[in-house]
Amino acid sequence: MSHRLPVLLLCFCFLCSGCHRQQYKSVAIDSEPIIRVLLTHASGKIPAIITVTGTYQMSDSNKRLLAQGDSLPATRVYARDGAVCLGEQKYSDSMLWLLPGAESRVEVNRVAYYGTLQCLASSQNQLQIINFLPLESYVACVLGGEMPLSWSPAALQAQAIVSRTYALYEKIQKAERAFDVYDSVLSQVYPGIAGETALARALVRDTAGMVLLYQNTLFKAFFHSTCGGHTARAADMFTYPDITPLAGRECQFCCNAKYFAWEYHVDLTELQQMARSLRLPAFDGMATGRHDRHGRLITVDVYFSETQKKSIEAEAIRKYFGTECLRSTRFVMEGSGNGVLFRGKGWGHGVGMCQNGAAQMATEGFSATQIVEFYYPGAKVYRLWQ
Ligand SMILES: [Zn+2]
Repeated sequence: MSHRLPVLLLCFCFLCSGCHRQQYKSVAIDSEPIIRVLLTHASGKIPAIITVTGTYQMSDSNKRLLAQGDSLPATRVYARDGAVCLGEQKYSDSMLWLLPGAESRVEVNRVAYYGTLQCLASSQNQLQIINFLPLESYVACVLGGEMPLSWSPAALQAQAIVSRTYALYEKIQKAERAFDVYDSVLSQVYPGIAGETALARALVRDTAGMVLLYQNTLFKAFFHSTCGGHTARAADMFTYPDITPLAGRECQFCCNAKYFAWEYHVDLTELQQMARSLRLPAFDGMATGRHDRHGRLITVDVYFSETQKKSIEAEAIRKYFGTECLRSTRFVMEGSGNGVLFRGKGWGHGVGMCQNGAAQMATEGFSATQIVEFYYPGAKVYRLWQ
């Protein structure tokens, strides 16, 4: 059962990590909001191709009608002299709205989207294309990108609650920015309409409006694939306040996951290349640096002589070799041949919900609410709209 908020005027807390300064901002949320997604694959200096099948309208920043039609064939959209250009037509405004009719479908670079598009031109001739759509439609499109739709319904409903919480938190936090979330792993993977299925829509509808709150406050509901036995503390992994739901907890549910334990061997040539990329004169070994209580490394010491070393963020080492090779920073290192053998646990940054653990909990009969309240201790599920 979710908890119903008696008053839907929430106090959102903006915490400034390290300085303990807090700002509060009241935001009324009692109906489904619109989310603004930056389409990274169509933003930048290269023209994007927009197509509308069905009727559409175009308007400027004052919502003044500029054009309308029964359909828009594939047309280039780009920025020039700080204004938006569509085909050969240059508009005087840096903002162009594209509003498809109710039965129409809009595509950007052949990817179909619900909702409307906002094109923003910068003075550097960068174009941003931002997709505005209802939050529930967004969550339905995101769900299959973040968790296999073949998993148990309760795990998928838990993921829907987490994805909705994450997006809504970003929306509140990024209110001053032109968009709320990226369409990629920088936020959540959003493939547009292609990501939505009838099953995803139904699972999202089951949890409509349900979010996690801690002390009546939204928080960034991080999640990851496999924790390897204990989730990580957000404050150790990111610039994020140390709050109870993200302080890390034991997880006994992911021990049968594919990447609960893994190994990865790196030979000496690759290690020497890594040292060069770190601007070190040589490679003379690696050792554990700072780590949390459960062996998740914060830093790795890279030696470039017998006594001289440089402390490197463990996450940077992981990204250097690839996050699908070093699957987490929860690893130990041992000499192997002329290289290093990494023995690790888990996949991902380890903060928040462990998805493989959630899948196992669902198989064992736990509900979506029980799953998320397990992985975010102290947080409660509330329904903000239906
Ligand atoms: Zn786990």
